[in-house]
Amino acid sequence: MQPLRGTKDILPYEIIYWQHIYTKASAILSLHNYSEIRTPIIESTNLFQRTIGKATDIINKEMYTFNDQGNRNITLRPEATASIARAFISNKLYQNRLQKLWYLGPMFRYERPQSGRQRQFHQLGIEHIGSLSPMADTEVIYLANQLLRQLKLKDYILEINSIGNLEERQIYKIDLVEYLLKYREDLDKDSQNRLYSNPLRILDSKNVKTQEILHYAPNLNKYLNKTSAEHFYLVCTYLDNLSIPYKINYKLVRGLDYYNQTTFEMKTKSQNSQNTICGGGRYDKLIEQLGGPKTPAVGWAIGLERLLKIIEQELILTPKQINVYIAIQGLAAQKKVWEIVKNLEKENIRFELDLSNASFQKQIKRASKLGAKFCIILGDQEINDNCITTRELAHHKQYTIPYSIFLEEIYKLKH
Ligand code: ATP
Ligand code: MG
Repeated sequence: MQPLRGTKDILPYEIIYWQHIYTKASAILSLHNYSEIRTPIIESTNLFQRTIGKATDIINKEMYTFNDQGNRNITLRPEATASIARAFISNKLYQNRLQKLWYLGPMFRYERPQSGRQRQFHQLGIEHIGSLSPMADTEVIYLANQLLRQLKLKDYILEINSIGNLEERQIYKIDLVEYLLKYREDLDKDSQNRLYSNPLRILDSKNVKTQEILHYAPNLNKYLNKTSAEHFYLVCTYLDNLSIPYKINYKLVRGLDYYNQTTFEMKTKSQNSQNTICGGGRYDKLIEQLGGPKTPAVGWAIGLERLLKIIEQELILTPKQINVYIAIQGLAAQKKVWEIVKNLEKENIRFELDLSNASFQKQIKRASKLGAKFCIILGDQEINDNCITTRELAHHKQYTIPYSIFLEEIYKLKH
């Protein structure tokens, strides 16, 4: 049996990296008063259709959708922002002026699996809900930057753009399509199809020929009105104040429809095509569009598999080893050992209890193999003498002391 294509088991030697990311994220985000939220993995298909946008890859071909036993149309979430906007409305979280939320969990997209692209993958993300201020955009970008730096990601670049509001984009789209139509035959197939369905996404094309054509295409930033232009200017100014380097990329649009104003991505400098680690932006209309009160918001999501692939080379984490191995033999020892177990637990000492009833020689060998410092030995001899034997595995030193003293001094096994 193999796991499904595009899915992976996260094994014990890898889980320490996931725990490390969770701990770091939780620490830094709670300092900024962000709270963790967990929404269901399944949602009504409708939620994503209404928010992500009809002419996007996710809606067109990437969703895991099925009918359940009650004939409800259900989708495994392809991303979390729509779910959080839904949760914000269903739980009336709008009663607070601001909601600052973060999440970590699996997402599902039916894509062609390749390095850095899975069908079940994980995102860590934040949503800052309730503020129109460019300070909010800056805060979320700052937090992504802090987190990536703390996780020892090097050589990445922040790209940023403003895609303005709906009206501005409407006018821009007309001019963009007019320009692209002149080169229609030279565009890649996907881009030709998008000319009418979703022309902005053509800007995102990775096709070299299409990119050449785009080089002289009209720039969206020329279409921004005063409010949008000023918002973008302020975000950039605050980033300058924070000394966060960035590159303005006028062609940076996000794959999902609900974005407006600021969009950004963090990319590693590797030549790999899956080099976008973090994607985000502002989405002021999403909550309203779902039937909630008019509430602006801004956020991002980091693809954890892509991040891990890079930081695993820099950040060497090793699993915690046990301090104590408990070797026992015989029924009397099996009964008595639980008191020792409870005392080790109380002292916060990591241990392994041998259940094999094999010879002490074999048990001690296993203790060394597991990297324990001490092996406690409890057999018939120790039971009869009411004492216990402790072996320092590195020095092959062994001593036997009365059981009561052993319990009193058990804390010493920590060192
Ligand atoms: P791409 O252009 O690479 O498909 P996207 O625009 O679809 O990315 P978003 O929806 O913005 O990606 O998701 C945010 C981040 O989640 C991405 O930057 C990436 O790091 C990660 N991500 C997206 N899809 C996958 C996937 N199938 N496997 C692994 N990580 C993914
Ligand atoms: Mg994608």
